[in-house]
Amino acid sequence: MPIALAVAGFLLALPDPLSVRSDFEGGSAKVVEIDQQARRITFMPGGAPARGWPCWWYFRIDGVKPGETITLKLIASTAVADKPGSKPLAASWSRPSHAACSADGTDWRQTGPGTPDGDAMLYKVEPSGNSVFVAWGPPCTPSTVSTWMREWSKRCPHAKVERLCVSREGRPVPMLRVMSGDTPGGKRLGVWVQARQHAWESGSSWVTKGFGDWLTGGSAGAAWLRENAEVVLVPVMDIDNAATGNGGKDALPQDHNRDWSDQPHWNEVKAAKARISEWIAKGRMDVFLDLHNPAPGDPSFFYVLDDDLMTEKARLNRDRFVEMAYGRISKIKPLIPMSNRPKYTGPKYHPLWKQISAAWVAMNGNPETVSVCLETIWNYKNSNTAGYMAVGSNLAEATRAYLAERKDKP
Ligand SMILES: [Zn+2]
Repeated sequence: MPIALAVAGFLLALPDPLSVRSDFEGGSAKVVEIDQQARRITFMPGGAPARGWPCWWYFRIDGVKPGETITLKLIASTAVADKPGSKPLAASWSRPSHAACSADGTDWRQTGPGTPDGDAMLYKVEPSGNSVFVAWGPPCTPSTVSTWMREWSKRCPHAKVERLCVSREGRPVPMLRVMSGDTPGGKRLGVWVQARQHAWESGSSWVTKGFGDWLTGGSAGAAWLRENAEVVLVPVMDIDNAATGNGGKDALPQDHNRDWSDQPHWNEVKAAKARISEWIAKGRMDVFLDLHNPAPGDPSFFYVLDDDLMTEKARLNRDRFVEMAYGRISKIKPLIPMSNRPKYTGPKYHPLWKQISAAWVAMNGNPETVSVCLETIWNYKNSNTAGYMAVGSNLAEATRAYLAERKDKP
């Protein structure tokens, strides 16, 4: 209730004090100052650098009321990892052009464009109730994934919810397996789609949402893919950092996407690699998609293995797949900017390039294997749930079109 003050005989209604909470699944914030008079919250991302880049933020503001405007003042995290040469992360990683906001923590929209203010970024939030959730981008927590899994398996009898593994901190990692008809498993095309090896890149999980909605939906294309392939969808790989609001990227001792070695540290990587190895042994690792969000200034694009490390057949397959996906994603309205020129992840890209998932699958896969990483733009006005989901459904359609064309070839 507003506090009423009697001043010189008048009753003066003061607004409720603002307060911030981030002690929930996926939450992250370090509050620097709450200016009750200016209705302004100054904060940093709250993640621990040992658990990845501290660029993710997600919290709830209580004490707001409809019709007022709250100012968020975002400052980059000053935290550093406890390893030699560490310095704070560049501010740009935590500063989306538009923040995500939600009245209920489920239905996400965007704020207007943020305005730079020295080293900080200001966002204006207009609440529609007595609390409002705000975040770097639309969050996707383990609970969100469980909800999606329930919806997908309910709407499509061929979609089964399974468990990829249990994480190091004891959290189940859900995966969806989709196939229909009588074709034996060993004869099916294999399609593996995973996101969030980097926990802060929440947009990539929303790309799997679009993929999964398309795949479990009523189109003839989706029915074809279910009939001819076994499709596995893992919306969140690094479930522990997604649950605890940490960045994940460059976490100690090893980044998830530098962990595809002979002895992976992370249970999710170990389990995914084992299942994919089974597919490879049966000659059916056909399309592997690893989903991410890129650097702040990047459009959407594919990361692929260096051409000279691939056979001609694998390279032609990959280029055809990329062409078909680009042809669809670049036509999405409203626009999701995409480059038709992939970037390369060979020896010049990173010392541990062989332990990057898409590179590992490309090098250890079958002659037919297409293995790529899709980076989806996050620092843009259309980088919202609808935009990400449109990327996912178009990626799914491209996967179907590519495999159907390949199947038809003599
Ligand atoms: Zn990433």
